[in-house]
Amino acid sequence: DLEIAIKVVIVGNGAVGKSSMIQRYCKGTFTKDYKKTIGVDFLERQIECDGEEVRLMLWDTAGQEEFDAITKAYYRGAQACVLAFSTTDRDSFEAIQSWKKKVEDECGEIPTVLVQNKIDLLEQSVVDPEEVDLLARALGCRLMHTSVKEDVNVNAVFRFLTSRCLIE
Ligand code: GDP
Ligand code: MG
Repeated sequence: DLEIAIKVVIVGNGAVGKSSMIQRYCKGTFTKDYKKTIGVDFLERQIECDGEEVRLMLWDTAGQEEFDAITKAYYRGAQACVLAFSTTDRDSFEAIQSWKKKVEDECGEIPTVLVQNKIDLLEQSVVDPEEVDLLARALGCRLMHTSVKEDVNVNAVFRFLTSRCLIE
């Protein structure tokens, strides 16, 4: 059997939950602070999708995104992308277009999901559902709402991306 490996990049402003999402998906854990504990390029998880064995490599940024210092090596060869923002961080929502452009400049058009994380904090939301829908449509991306904390929809994000990659 030929094994299929897919590199997924997860981009978005600092503190939206990118490292947490990778940990949740690959290790099944959630804690309040990952920044100090990750310190690796990527974590991986093997899944079966549409009858294929697929190895997903989820690349983390180790905090460089806060200094706009993500290197080309991070994006190189990426086949799928998660564009993440937080329900409680307006700046992170407004930065999405620029994150999309960075990925596109390095990787071209690849399967991408727009992820609104921290939906467990909906009562503290600083984004309007309609503007989020509009943005997803403008970017031509599937929109998904996740709570990494409560493990809502995290698997669905990566299943969707894997499935899209297998079609291409
Ligand atoms: P990153 O900078 O994008 O990698 O963000 P982190 O993964 O380090 O997460 C930043 C903070 O948000 C941490 O304290 C996480 O525990 C917290 N966090 C991540 N996902 C969620 C979520 O879905 N809900 C809530 N309430 N907190 C979250
Ligand atoms: Mg991080």
